[in-house]
Amino acid sequence: MARPYKIAKVNISINLVNNDYKTTNNICELCKTPLYGKGCIVGKCHHAFHKECVRGLHGANNTLISCPIDNSAWHLAYTTFA
Ligand SMILES: [Zn+2]
Ligand SMILES: [Zn+2]
Repeated sequence: MARPYKIAKVNISINLVNNDYKTTNNICELCKTPLYGKGCIVGKCHHAFHKECVRGLHGANNTLISCPIDNSAWHLAYTTFA
């Protein structure tokens, strides 16, 4: 006979917030507006910025040399699309 069992409580939370963005409070430090809804670049230092803001920093070159927040050498982790 199968033992009856009870599932006490299952909390399934789907985290829709990109963890990397937490580092920047979901705000682009370059323009002080929310990161969502626009393409962003995220560095290995977990700082994220709008692609268009980064492009504005270095003219035609849309990559960063150093992180605008911590001034460490910029290593791109990934980019997102709006
Ligand atoms: Zn921005
Ligand atoms: Zn950084």
